[in-house]
Amino acid sequence: MKRVLTQLLNLLNVVVESSLKGGLVLFLSVSKNTKSAICPQCGKKSEHLHQNQNYLVKDLPMGDKEVILNVNRRRFKCKICRKTFNEKLDFIGARKTYTHRYTENIVKQLISSNVSNLAENNGLTDEEVNSILEDIAKNLLPINLKNLRS
Ligand SMILES: [Zn+2]
Repeated sequence: MKRVLTQLLNLLNVVVESSLKGGLVLFLSVSKNTKSAICPQCGKKSEHLHQNQNYLVKDLPMGDKEVILNVNRRRFKCKICRKTFNEKLDFIGARKTYTHRYTENIVKQLISSNVSNLAENNGLTDEEVNSILEDIAKNLLPINLKNLRS
């Protein structure tokens, strides 16, 4: 475990296992330090690790480096339900490729900017920024924005 990087990352119950620098990008392999996960079906704790699955999500930059997390989302098997399930990662939304705090930071910047500036400053495309904004709007508003555009 990388103690200093884990402290710098500062995500609850998440540890940095290893790091890799590639140009202006810092890749951090992270996983939760908990030994168990809660089964979404029956609510019982499972410690039976079934599979490790990795995927990449973008996090806040550190210094001049863009940070990509190589997240180990573990699959557990519930002995009661006899089914496998993914552990819940509370710092990333379901099926998202950005951390929650990355998304929050984009919104803060948008308040004093516009979509094109924001995309350029963060190495994103306009479409990616719009997609982040739509995700936020979906979580905030109980209506589907697409229904409003006709
Ligand atoms: Zn279960």
